[in-house]
Amino acid sequence: ADHRLKEVEFTETTCGFCAVGCRFQLVSKGDEVLGAVPTDDPDDAPVNDFSTCVKGKFGYEFANSDERLTTPLVRGEDGELREASWEEALSRVAEGFESIRERSGPDALATFASSKCTNEENFLMQKFARGVLGTKNIDNCARLCHSSTVAALKQTLGYGAMSNRINEDIGEADAYLITGSNTTESHPVLATRIKRNVDAGADLVVFDPRRVEIAEHASQYVRTEPGYDVAWINGLIRYIVANDLHDAEFVEDRTRNFEALREKVEPFTPEEVERLAGVAPEDLKRAAESVAAADSVVFGWAMGMTQHSHGTQNVLALADLALVTGNLGKPGAGVSPFRGHNNVQGGGGDMGTLPNLLPGYRDPGDPDVLDEFEDAWGVRPPAEEGLTVPEVFDEALAGNVEGLYVMGENPALSEPDLAHAEEALQALDFLVVQDVFPTETAAYADVVLPAATFSEKEGTFTNTERRVQLVGKATKPPGDARQDWTIIQALANRIDHAGDAWAYDGPAEVMDEISEVAPIYGGVTHDRLSDEGGLQWPCEDESDPGTPYLYEEEFNFSDGKARFVPADTGEPGDLPSEEFPLTMTTGRVLYHWHTGTLTRKVEGLLDHVGEAFVEVNPQTAERLGIADGERVRVESPRGAIEVRAEIGDRPGDGVVFVPMHFADGAVNRLTGDHVDPTSGIPEYKVSSVRIRRLGDE
Ligand code: SF4
Repeated sequence: ADHRLKEVEFTETTCGFCAVGCRFQLVSKGDEVLGAVPTDDPDDAPVNDFSTCVKGKFGYEFANSDERLTTPLVRGEDGELREASWEEALSRVAEGFESIRERSGPDALATFASSKCTNEENFLMQKFARGVLGTKNIDNCARLCHSSTVAALKQTLGYGAMSNRINEDIGEADAYLITGSNTTESHPVLATRIKRNVDAGADLVVFDPRRVEIAEHASQYVRTEPGYDVAWINGLIRYIVANDLHDAEFVEDRTRNFEALREKVEPFTPEEVERLAGVAPEDLKRAAESVAAADSVVFGWAMGMTQHSHGTQNVLALADLALVTGNLGKPGAGVSPFRGHNNVQGGGGDMGTLPNLLPGYRDPGDPDVLDEFEDAWGVRPPAEEGLTVPEVFDEALAGNVEGLYVMGENPALSEPDLAHAEEALQALDFLVVQDVFPTETAAYADVVLPAATFSEKEGTFTNTERRVQLVGKATKPPGDARQDWTIIQALANRIDHAGDAWAYDGPAEVMDEISEVAPIYGGVTHDRLSDEGGLQWPCEDESDPGTPYLYEEEFNFSDGKARFVPADTGEPGDLPSEEFPLTMTTGRVLYHWHTGTLTRKVEGLLDHVGEAFVEVNPQTAERLGIADGERVRVESPRGAIEVRAEIGDRPGDGVVFVPMHFADGAVNRLTGDHVDPTSGIPEYKVSSVRIRRLGDE
């Protein structure tokens, strides 16, 4: 027994699923991860202490799956993918990208970074795009989740990020307004904090078209019409201001542009809000009074606010509401966009994997900023703005993007209007996919590069509260799979480029370069993270302890004041019609994660929810003659899927819900191509559909 015990190792790490950022130890033996257990010292797990959700507890199992990619694959002359050596695969990639660049210029190439990968890997991916390929086209899947949040919060408050802490602020608020977030299923440990505080007396108000689980704990749940959120939020602001319930001192001292806001919200009378958003005047009044009466309010939201053709406007309205009630820059309050992927804040934003921003959200339009990057890299990054994820697909179809490098993303399931995405993937001349499984996207690839997952790599993730935390390597990647950063470095050194040669000896050295060029990470080093635990940015130098909550003294503008940016309401792009009379919305279930690439490999999670379904309100079901459990066909103007019907009263009459995690019954066969003009985020949350019984066709 002694001998066996010695072989078991414990590695402290950060969860690879959601952005709550739970810490735990992975238990491994040889090349296999055996389990996840709490850290020895709860101080090493500042968000979750000893607890995790079901994904943290069992989700590591996918790492042991037989279906992992263990060797590079290249497409042979017969059109099939076949196994290849790294030497052959890397040469194919280098030649593929170089020949497109020679023929059509660097902007015929595009890269997608990954919110699942570490900060260091994402930093290298954008440096590879800008400095090695010389393309301006770098984006990532955060385009599809919180790009509208980032755009709105940057304009109003200065940083495109959550302003507060999970435990000390969200866990201690006097009241919550939660909207467009299925918190219990999408951010389980965070939801537990909220529910615990509500049990202790905090007030919770939930606005949502779907009566999500967290609403069961609310003092007030208000069902809203999908797609009309600006109306009820502006209505709350109007009521609060008209009744002098706003924080006049805060507005006077710390903000600008209040008069414009007051004017803008004037038409949003309770009657108008009811007409647009389906919210009764007494519900609006009650919610406004709750929000205004509380000493500290946390405004929490997720994709239900952001994934709309006016997603940026929705978040602007929420930021205006938080400002008008003085709920920023103090403990227990703040704006809390609940971020999705484990590292979407860092890898999807802070690291500059964005077509319009460099690492640290620095502006490529500023020649002084470009000088700094040129000094650090030996090559000047492009100054112009590149293409967003949806634009890359449009331009691929138009023949203007010919080569694409996708790291740890699965656009063949996550893009809206999949028929369009599939055509675009087919139209590409050269596609490279780097992932841990042969994903739906890898099926289109010319070269597939096998990568490591979170339990097999070192580096850092930044959670939803801006906390940078270390990731620990418990086992080696299987077979010939490699850590993503080593693959990118190997490619950089094979492709002819103007900048310096790449010779990082590990992620810690990459972090040193990040802190040099991104001032918000200026004081972050792996040594400090190991000695002191996670650090919340901005953390400007080695003596800076980091910033637990933002805006205590000033907002991130030169005059230190926040800006009210009045929000416009608008119609969703795809309204129900006579032919497609129902409104479909999409979302998550507790047991799965995004396109399910990882969680669909875990038996224990599939046992709970193993297939896609459509959730239908009992009245709608009765009208359509659908029985619970019956298989039905859901159709939109874009496509159709066949799934099981689940009858329940979470959605309202006329609204149906389909989860996003499954390839069979892929909801994005049905979603459309409307995007928010500011952020480019697709409108996943409102699609017109109809449901037919299978026998009725
Ligand atoms: Fe992982 Fe999120 Fe679950 Fe925590 S709440 S264990 S970070 S999936």
